[in-house]
Amino acid sequence: MPSDPTPPASEQDIAFMRRAIELAKQGERARGASPIGCVIVMDGRIVAEAHNEVDIRHDPTAHAEVMAMRRAGEALGVSQFPDAVLYSTLQPCGMCSMASIWAKIGRIVYGAERDDVHQMYFEGRHLDTMDFITDAFRDDLSVKGGVLRRECAGLYHQPGEDVPLEEQANI
Ligand SMILES: [Zn+2]
Repeated sequence: MPSDPTPPASEQDIAFMRRAIELAKQGERARGASPIGCVIVMDGRIVAEAHNEVDIRHDPTAHAEVMAMRRAGEALGVSQFPDAVLYSTLQPCGMCSMASIWAKIGRIVYGAERDDVHQMYFEGRHLDTMDFITDAFRDDLSVKGGVLRRECAGLYHQPGEDVPLEEQANI
């Protein structure tokens, strides 16, 4: 496991991640959704939450994080969320990492990491999507991974699991 120089997760981080896990489980029960949950928090309160709705909406961009950002924008009447914290049960993909940069999210907290789950959840063979954030012009976006890692990883297919090719998201 890579060393993590960021401070340990706070009680608040854990509470919001638990809510994201609940949303992921709602997604698991919904036909056409995937068990990825996301909440966006500003000033200590949830302003938007979502689970993945790709196959509900037939919208390849309807990842939990993007859905939550859309709802936050609608709820607040703004297009950027400076200082917001985005909680996701799974390390955000490249699209959602980039969207977080455009949205000026201040902090990303995620549960399961790329190496904790099957490769079908990520688009790049070698590129870690967090590299987008590391390499961004912005240097005020912090990331904390591995919060409730075990519970979050349990929502997903495991590394090396024999998932039929037609069920794999990135093939
Ligand atoms: Zn995504």
